[in-house]
Amino acid sequence: MRTGGDGSVPKAGEKEFIQLLRDHRMRVTPNRLTVFRAMQSSKAPLTVSDLAIKVEHSGLNTATLYRIMETLTELKVVHPVLQSHQNVAYELVEPFARHHDHLICRRCGRTIDIYDCRLEDALKAISEDRGFHIDFHQMEVHGLCPECQITPHP
Ligand SMILES: [Zn+2]
Ligand SMILES: [Zn+2]
Repeated sequence: MRTGGDGSVPKAGEKEFIQLLRDHRMRVTPNRLTVFRAMQSSKAPLTVSDLAIKVEHSGLNTATLYRIMETLTELKVVHPVLQSHQNVAYELVEPFARHHDHLICRRCGRTIDIYDCRLEDALKAISEDRGFHIDFHQMEVHGLCPECQITPHP
């Protein structure tokens, strides 16, 4: 488990997820729970194809997974991370995971999580200067990771 400066344990887990579904009068289905658990156990954002492999044993098909991810996005349990112009991965967001932003390598596809209060403080200050109240943010910064900068093109 990741350790961070202000504690790494998410404030909400499966119990809160089930409650959220009930609050929205949605059924707590085995499929939704399977997907939620797969998201919880992943360290990196998951695309629907990643998820399909991860939950292969449950016999969930891609169409169902897309539908579930749509539901979880609407419920603000997950948020899409734009990995490239066509590649979307999903990740749990607060309170189901601790907030962070991303550095994404365009060559190897690695996603580096950024837990940095300097970034959060700067965003807060910049928004406040403009009288803007932030509801939510998640940043994807694209470029080359250290390894890909030194290795020649294949
Ligand atoms: Zn942030
Ligand atoms: Zn890379």
